[in-house]
Amino acid sequence: MKLNSLAIAMTVAGAFAGAASAQQQFVSIGTGGVTGVYYPTGGAICRLVNKDRADHGIRCSVESTGGSIYNINTIRAGELEFGVAQSDWQYHAYHGTSKFEEQGPFEDLRAVFSVHAEPVTILARRDAGINNITDIPGKRFNIGNPGSGTLGTWEVIEEAMGWERSDLALAAQMKSSETAGALCDNSIDGYFWLVGHPSGLTQETVASCDAVIVPAVAPEITALVEANPYYRMATIPGGMYPGNPDDIQTFGVGATFVTSASVSDEAVYTVAMAVLGNLDDFRKLHPAFANLKAEEMIRDSLSAPLHPGAIRAYQELGLMD
Ligand code: GLU
Repeated sequence: MKLNSLAIAMTVAGAFAGAASAQQQFVSIGTGGVTGVYYPTGGAICRLVNKDRADHGIRCSVESTGGSIYNINTIRAGELEFGVAQSDWQYHAYHGTSKFEEQGPFEDLRAVFSVHAEPVTILARRDAGINNITDIPGKRFNIGNPGSGTLGTWEVIEEAMGWERSDLALAAQMKSSETAGALCDNSIDGYFWLVGHPSGLTQETVASCDAVIVPAVAPEITALVEANPYYRMATIPGGMYPGNPDDIQTFGVGATFVTSASVSDEAVYTVAMAVLGNLDDFRKLHPAFANLKAEEMIRDSLSAPLHPGAIRAYQELGLMD
């Protein structure tokens, strides 16, 4: 009897300890530059998570970072729980290929869901003579900041097109938030990034210095898309941005939300449930989310396995068997 009540007392104490530690659980999301779409994506996710903080005890915060590759590496180092990352870099990190070959496969990388499409978006000054991706050699061009998925994908494009870095008159590596100003000041002819649409920075660039968005059409690009599952052809709709009335043919990736196998099932379940369980609210938090569909978000553009916490949420929501 005595033993039994001791056992009960210990169980109760254990339960309280569990509740106390749940109350103290912090999760951070690595995003991108403050004028991109990753940063508000992290903000939207945290907003839905934090709404029910009193019930689940998880407090979510957002960090502005260099982008996809920084986020994946920092999750791998255990310093971030979640991050937004391009589908091409999710693929390469999980398989230990391309930029991740030296580090080897990040076997604990886990997918949670995918978000918006990210087409290769090339912006140029109207006077720069850039009408297609093939016109970039010889120009002063921003290729993405270190740690960004953008810079990583630039390196892939460069190789596919057979270009050398020295083919550019200037290969700038400014952060995305600095590129609109540099283009307007005529310190670069153009810049590119992989981003969701509509995006604040793209809007700012075309509105403040009459920039054009140009296509990425070339046989090498078609071959690249055909050879790799994480690329697809994409169109930036005409009329989405002022002064750019025609559809723009390009290619792109998907933005995905990732974590590590070492992040708890509860934390991932809570975050996945906050977004997929409130998808109507989530869609309203950024115009790039307007057309998101649950069945695509839990399936498309994901090459790492889904985290078990996410699977539990999707099963409870009836999205998965
Ligand atoms: N796809 C970009 C990158 O990883 C970030 C885009 C954004 O900030 O919305 O470099």
